[in-house]
Amino acid sequence: MLYIVPTPIWNLEDITYRAVRILKEVDIVACEDTRTSGILLKHYDIEATKISYHSHSGKYKSDKIISLLKEWKDIALISDAGTPGISDPGYALMQDVLAENLEVTALPGPSAVITALSASGMSSHHFLYLWFLPIKKWRQTLLTRLSENKTETVVIYESVHRIERTISDLENYFGPDHKMVVWRELTKKFEEYIRGTILEVSTYFKENPGKVKWEFVVLF
Ligand code: SAM
Repeated sequence: MLYIVPTPIWNLEDITYRAVRILKEVDIVACEDTRTSGILLKHYDIEATKISYHSHSGKYKSDKIISLLKEWKDIALISDAGTPGISDPGYALMQDVLAENLEVTALPGPSAVITALSASGMSSHHFLYLWFLPIKKWRQTLLTRLSENKTETVVIYESVHRIERTISDLENYFGPDHKMVVWRELTKKFEEYIRGTILEVSTYFKENPGKVKWEFVVLF
């Protein structure tokens, strides 16, 4: 059986009892980065046999995992943070494993998109999760399409390198009065959300350059 196991997006307490039990019981834990996951596994006294499975692993690694599953080994897939497959490695492996009709199950657990959305104050009845906005040409096409016909809350991930450019682009496409929320440092001690119009959020970051750090979830 392949278990898709979500792990904390920062705060090590954010893991379920079941996830810890599964990680202790499986034969192998496939990690996006064995050193990063080693911190979590050590924290919970999980003495797992680790192998790596990351975005560049390719077919060879999938085949290896598939052959282990065919030997009735139980394998847990974890990423560096949050839910595997959600902007993290997992999708390609899932395709290969399902093509072989092998058993897969997913545990519920942390993901930055759902955590941010649930307390955003924005409508969560209909939302569109777009991963990171594309960087090049397709970015303009996508923003144009959204600005012409957006009825749902849009959620994106953003890095420290592009957050200011993204807010500026959103201002250009949606106007300064459009509402947005930016979450930073989710589940960390200095977790912070910035709500307001795009202009207000943009002004906040201009006046507080020290806050342009770490990782962000953006809703608009
Ligand atoms: N698999 C993860 C999940 O389920 O949320 C997402 C991994 S994706 C590679 C990493 C991005 O998620 C970051 O660049 C950031 O936009 C967002 N993210 C992850 N953890 C976060 C946190 N604690 N606070 C804010 N954003 C976070």
